[in-house]
Amino acid sequence: MRILIAGAGIAGLAAALALARKGHQVQIIEQAAALEEVGAGLQLGPNAMRVLDALGVGDAVASAGQTPPTITMRDGRTSREILKIPLGDSARNRWRAAYVTLHRADLVAILADALEQAQPGSLRTGVALTVIENRPDGVTVTTQTGETLSADLLLGADGIRSVVRQHLFGDDAARFTGHVAWRALVRIDKADPAAPPAGVGAWIGPRRHAVTYRIRPDLVNLVAVTEQADWREEGWNLPGDIDRLRAEFAGWGAITRLLDRVEAPLRWGLHDRKPMRAWHRNRAVLIGDACHPMLPFLAQGAAMGIEDGYALAVLLPSDGADIAPALTRFFALRQPRTARVQATARSNGVDFHEGNPLANLAMRLPLGRAAAARPDAVLARWDWLYGGGPIAPVSGKLA
Ligand SMILES: Cc1cc2nc3c(=O)[nH]c(=O)nc-3n(C[C@H](O)[C@H](O)[C@H](O)COP(=O)(O)OP(=O)(O)OC[C@H]3O[C@@H](n4cnc5c(N)ncnc54)[C@H](O)[C@@H]3O)c2cc1C
Repeated sequence: MRILIAGAGIAGLAAALALARKGHQVQIIEQAAALEEVGAGLQLGPNAMRVLDALGVGDAVASAGQTPPTITMRDGRTSREILKIPLGDSARNRWRAAYVTLHRADLVAILADALEQAQPGSLRTGVALTVIENRPDGVTVTTQTGETLSADLLLGADGIRSVVRQHLFGDDAARFTGHVAWRALVRIDKADPAAPPAGVGAWIGPRRHAVTYRIRPDLVNLVAVTEQADWREEGWNLPGDIDRLRAEFAGWGAITRLLDRVEAPLRWGLHDRKPMRAWHRNRAVLIGDACHPMLPFLAQGAAMGIEDGYALAVLLPSDGADIAPALTRFFALRQPRTARVQATARSNGVDFHEGNPLANLAMRLPLGRAAAARPDAVLARWDWLYGGGPIAPVSGKLA
């Protein structure tokens, strides 16, 4: 099939690679003049890494990044440990893939290079989709320069403000969730007093939290999340006022020390949507943030986009046979899983920012000695997420 993909973010690139590997003729258009990812980190759970392994890029991704030994949640003000999830070999043995943290630009470059090798010239930058004609037998799009492109199927991988979504299902603005994310990369030396503990750290407290992890041995990714009543600004990478951020996290030990090294954080308002009731019409289907944008509090938005592309490649017929049943099955398989991830990310936002997070989290998590005595119980809680998706570790079946 001729498949046109709008958007070369992580979801679009992963889908292009998966579909090219299945022998489809892929064309991916990206409105930006070049594939430029903001300087920021990304966590990839074993569910996403199993897909990247199957696409033949897992080793490259793992060697570009770090494999954190643990995810540790701490009280941000006292540094007291609340919960520890072992990763490393425990994750690899249980979920058959590593947990990796890396620079977004590295993942984008690895996916784009693999696509170029699989199907040279299939990615075009500086090309924006503007108009869609979506028929039962095919789809034609017009770009900003008036060029028309035809395909058997259009994938809308064009992010939270998707033009394809708007065309298929009408205008429905994403909602501001009341959270603002501040991001910075901090360079650290060996034995640096500002270096946070190894692994992924989630530091929580009233109405704010922060996440730290290394994406290279000497580079720490910091995301700090604060609350705000409304958001009227346009844009994703607005300069942030470092003095205000330092004041928000004053007295937070490890986070305060890191913020002392930050000069110019970027910030943006976090938005999401309720789960949608359909993702496709005729010959156009949505993937990634275009159909299931979520809060980043489970670190799974990009992972869900990676899973989408692989699942679609598995389900679509390899010839020109009727694709409607495959798109219906795609939605039926993917929507419940992504809706659960969206809901869990949202409730993490509430838990992390509770005035008394320990009390709230204790209702749901095995804590302290109970957790230490039953490490498997801590891991088992995450089987649905890290052990699920298009490549389940045991059955190898679509789930
Ligand atoms: C603070 C923060 C931390 C996060 N951390 C993680 C994490 O650790 N792990 C994780 O898995 N996820 C994480 N996420 C979520 C993740 O970043 C997103 O879910 C993911 O990047 C979405 O990918 P996408 O390809 O669907 O959309 P996007 O990345 O938005 O890509 C869409 C692309 O489409 C292009 N485009 C838009 N309109 C058009 C058009 N008309 N024509 C052509 N091209 C167009 C855009 O230029 C863009 O390149 C985080 C998000 C935030 C905000």
